[in-house]
Amino acid sequence: MTSETTVARALWRHLPSVDRLLQSTECLNWLASYGHTETTQALRRALEQARQHLTELTLPPSEAELLKSAHTILQKRASSQLRAVFNLTGTVLHTNLGRATLAESVIEAVARAARSPCALEYALDEGERGDRDEVVRELLCELTGAEAATVVNNNAAAVFLLLNTLANRKEVIVSRGELVEIGGAFRVPDIMKRAGAKLVEVGCTNRTHAKDYREAISKRTALLMKVHASNYAIQGFTHTVPNTEVAAMAHEHGLTFVEDLGSGTLIDLERWGLPHEPTPREALKAGADLVSFSGDKLLGGPQAGILVGRNDLIQKLKKNPLKRALRLGKLTLAALEATLHLYRNPEALPQQLETLRLLTRSSDEIVAQCRRILPSMQCFMTPLDAQVTIEPCSSQLGSGSLPIERLPSAALVIRTNAKRGAGLNQIEKRLRALPTPVIGRIAERALWLDLRCLRPEQEADLQSQLMQVQTT
Ligand SMILES: *Cc1c(COP(=O)(O)O)cnc(C)c1O
Repeated sequence: MTSETTVARALWRHLPSVDRLLQSTECLNWLASYGHTETTQALRRALEQARQHLTELTLPPSEAELLKSAHTILQKRASSQLRAVFNLTGTVLHTNLGRATLAESVIEAVARAARSPCALEYALDEGERGDRDEVVRELLCELTGAEAATVVNNNAAAVFLLLNTLANRKEVIVSRGELVEIGGAFRVPDIMKRAGAKLVEVGCTNRTHAKDYREAISKRTALLMKVHASNYAIQGFTHTVPNTEVAAMAHEHGLTFVEDLGSGTLIDLERWGLPHEPTPREALKAGADLVSFSGDKLLGGPQAGILVGRNDLIQKLKKNPLKRALRLGKLTLAALEATLHLYRNPEALPQQLETLRLLTRSSDEIVAQCRRILPSMQCFMTPLDAQVTIEPCSSQLGSGSLPIERLPSAALVIRTNAKRGAGLNQIEKRLRALPTPVIGRIAERALWLDLRCLRPEQEADLQSQLMQVQTT
C-alpha cells in the first residue's frame, strides 16, 4: 500500500457512514419521495465524490454538505431528460425543440387516451375489430377534400411508404430543382433508394420544363413526383411546370402523380396576413393523386405523416406490411384527432391552435412583452457586465415552412464588452443553465432572445428564474 492511499484511508475515517446519514431528517423525507434504493445510492455517490476530493490540505466536507450533494444527485436523476425550455430562438417550429406545442384541449385528449382503454381499433357499432386510421379518416377527408386518408409516424415515413408501395423496382421522375434535403438526414434521393425506387432526375436546378418530364417517361416509370422546396427558394431565372400540367401528363400515360407537400397547412394562412403555403386541398384539386404532409409543422399537431388522395392508392399503402411498422400510437392519434377538430371552427383557430397563435402575434404585443421582461433580464446581466436592449428582429416559421418569409418581431438583445465582462457564449451558457433553460440565438456579435414564443402565462416564471440567480 502506498503512503498516499494510507493517508487517504485515514482521511476517509472523518466521513460519516451511509447509515449515519440515513438518520438525518432530510433523508427521511427523501426515503418517502425517492425510495430506499435511490436514496442510499445517492448517499454512496456523494461520499464517493467526497473521497475523490479528499487531500491532506482540505477539510473533509461536513454532513450538511454531503447531504446537499446527495440531494443534487437525487434531483438530477429524478428529472426528465425531456426538459421544458423557453424557445426564444425566433424559430416558431423548431425541430430540435419539438416543433408544434399543442393546444390545451389537445393535451386533455391525449391524457384521456392515456388514462383509459379506448376504441382505438374497435368498431363499436359492430363489436368487431376496426381500423385505427378511422380515428382521423373522416376529419382528414373533410378538411382536404380527399377520397381517402391514412396516417403514419411522420412525413418521412409517409414518403417512404408511398414510394415503396407504388414505385418499388420502378422509376420516379423528379425535377432537379426539388431534390431537397431536410435537416436530420432526410434526402429525397436517399429515401428513394431505400424505398426500392429509382430516381430519374429531370430538368436543371433552376428550370424544369414539361418536355423534360415527357422525355423521361418510359415503361419503367411508376410515378411523377413533386417535392415542395420547403427549406430553400430558387429565385431569378426559373421555371417550374404547374401541377395541373404534370398531373395531366402523368394521367395521359396512365401514371400516378404524387406530391410531398412538406408542411401542408390545412387552411389558407393569408386570411391572417401570413404568406401563402400550398394546402393539400389545392394540391389534390390541381390533380395530385396522393399528397403527403407533416402533422407537427404548420398543421400544429403531433408528429405524424399524413397521406390523402385516391382511395385505391390509399388501400394499397394500407396493405403494405411497412404500414404496420410505421403506424401511429393511440396518444398521437388522440392528439391528431383533437387538433383536426379545431379546424372545424376556423374563426377561433388563432386563439385555439398554439402554432397559429404564435405566428399571428403582432410585433407591438411582443415589444410590450420585451418591456415587461427587460428589468429582470437587466438584473441577470448586470453582474455579467452585459447590456440589454429591445430591438426589432424577425422570426421565422422553421421546420422547412416558408423558408424566406419572416415575421416582424422584437427581441431582448444582449451585448457584452468581452474584455471586461463574460463572453457571449458564457452568457448564453448561463441562460441555458436556468431551471427552465432559455434558448436564444447568437448573431451579429449579440445574443438575441426573440419573445414571440414566450407565452404570457410563462412571463412570471421567467422573471423569477432570472431574479433568483441574483440572490443565490
Ligand atoms: C419536413 C419535410 C419532410 C419530413 O417531414 P417529417 O414530418 O419531419 O418527417 C419531408 N418532405 C418535405 C418536403 C418536408 O418539408
